[in-house]
Amino acid sequence: MTKRLTLLGSTGSIGESTLDVIARHPERFSVYALTAHRNGDKLVAQCLRFRPEVAVVGDAQTAAQIETQLRAAGCATDVSYGPQALVDVSKSDGCDTVVAAIVGAAGLAPTLAAAVAGKRILLANKEALVMSGAIFMNAVRDHGATLLPVDSEHNAIFQCLPRDVSAHGGVAKIILTASGGPFRTREPATLADVTPDEACKHPNWVMGRKISVDSATMMNKGLEVIEAHWLFGLPGERIEVLIHPQSVIHSLVSYADGSVLAQLGNPDMRTPIAHALAYPERVESGVAQLDLAQIASLSFEKPDYERFPCLALAMQALADGGVASAALNAANEVAVDAFLARRIGFMDIAQTVSAVLDAIPNRRPDGLDDVLEADASARRAARELIASSAHLGHHADRANLTRRAVQ
Ligand code: NAD
Ligand code: MG
Repeated sequence: MTKRLTLLGSTGSIGESTLDVIARHPERFSVYALTAHRNGDKLVAQCLRFRPEVAVVGDAQTAAQIETQLRAAGCATDVSYGPQALVDVSKSDGCDTVVAAIVGAAGLAPTLAAAVAGKRILLANKEALVMSGAIFMNAVRDHGATLLPVDSEHNAIFQCLPRDVSAHGGVAKIILTASGGPFRTREPATLADVTPDEACKHPNWVMGRKISVDSATMMNKGLEVIEAHWLFGLPGERIEVLIHPQSVIHSLVSYADGSVLAQLGNPDMRTPIAHALAYPERVESGVAQLDLAQIASLSFEKPDYERFPCLALAMQALADGGVASAALNAANEVAVDAFLARRIGFMDIAQTVSAVLDAIPNRRPDGLDDVLEADASARRAARELIASSAHLGHHADRANLTRRAVQ
């Protein structure tokens, strides 16, 4: 039976890789809806190729522009815009599968709507799960939704766990691998002055700019530890991070009897995407077979929490529980935006997140409103901090912020 897909964030890196896999299997997958934020031209090209019923963009002006272009090309795709339209295409009867590939907190509402509508959800948007944790997992369970991880590490763990994951028989720990990003070996004293382009130059993966910066600070791995906690139900103490610069082993599961299962492959997101799309079957993804003899050697090292304070901050937020992870994620999104806009330096990202976590009172969320409130106050606090640091000049402020460094 053909799967009908809503692809949230189709113009992004994960979105394009997903369409690449889908195009290889027209008999298995068809597209109900495609969504983008502002990149109207790319969305028009995708609509002309995949002929979805609905296309969603961020604002009325972009919607009007792409509607004109689509009609001129004889394409009947309906065009709508705004956050409610994203929710509508995620819960619509027109689709059975929702690929959650929007970046950041903007993906939470439509992904949660897909869970409440009982859809099959392919989750790339880790920020949505990091923010809402138990609320999201409960919605999946209560409404009979199916959650399949697309994030390469989590997809690898999913592949290495027993099919009946409810039993979790004998799992000692899970080990998330991390490449260490572009600054793994760079002299720490020079990190304060790296540029956004340097931070986005990942050694093994081509990704959107936000996750690329997260990989450079290793906040990405921190968010993934939190993501793994919710997806697989293990406490933070049983989730380990291992630096593996080649990005060939995508993660591992360690069992009580001493066995360790790993999933390997070339670093190309089309593998986990194809796995989740076709699960439990296997389909061709366009990724070349792994040639281990050519790779010759794989290496491993422990993470350096001083070089990568964001990793420690995220692990602490998971241990703290409550709304700490939501606040961490929100502060990080604001700080990464400011770094990409060259308003703060690279090391100020961790300082900002740390200061916001100190400033926001933590509490157990009663529902989504509490999470959204923590998200909003963390964003406000981060913006204020960044604005005051711009006022001081960020070099002066860096010294100031350094006093709040993580232990
Ligand atoms: P990207 O920046 O390349 O694409 C983001 C997509 O989201 C685009 O289609 C954009 O139009 C849309 N978008 C952005 N802001 C939006 C908003 N406010 N409202 C609605 N739509 C919006 O990002 P990406 O690299 O494809 O990452 C997407 C998600 O997948 C992220 O959560 C990331 O952490 C996760 N992920 C990515 C990779 C990767 O290899 N790129 C790997 C694992 C997980
Ligand atoms: Mg990942």
